[in-house]
Amino acid sequence: MMIALVLVEEREPRWQDDAACLGATSLFYSTSTPDILAAKQICMELCPVLEECREEAAATETSANAVFGVRAGMSARERKRLVKQPRRGGRT
Ligand code: SF4
Repeated sequence: MMIALVLVEEREPRWQDDAACLGATSLFYSTSTPDILAAKQICMELCPVLEECREEAAATETSANAVFGVRAGMSARERKRLVKQPRRGGRT
């Protein structure tokens, strides 16, 4: 008889655990326009953590680092445009 041992690491839950894009990497990193639109629709209509995702994107993506894929309901091109614009009053 074979016994399988499974180790489960306990950790604090993270907002990413609820992301609607989990498991949809190929769709979110596709370069096809229909895929990009479908990924953006998932973000905007189905994702319960859109705000958290948007805050993290704004905090971590800069014009100096490359951005790829759909994130927070925006294509990479849209996010790059946001990064290049100066923020008014220090708020986003
Ligand atoms: S907003 Fe979009 S990219 Fe962000 S976690 Fe949700 S589904 Fe994923």
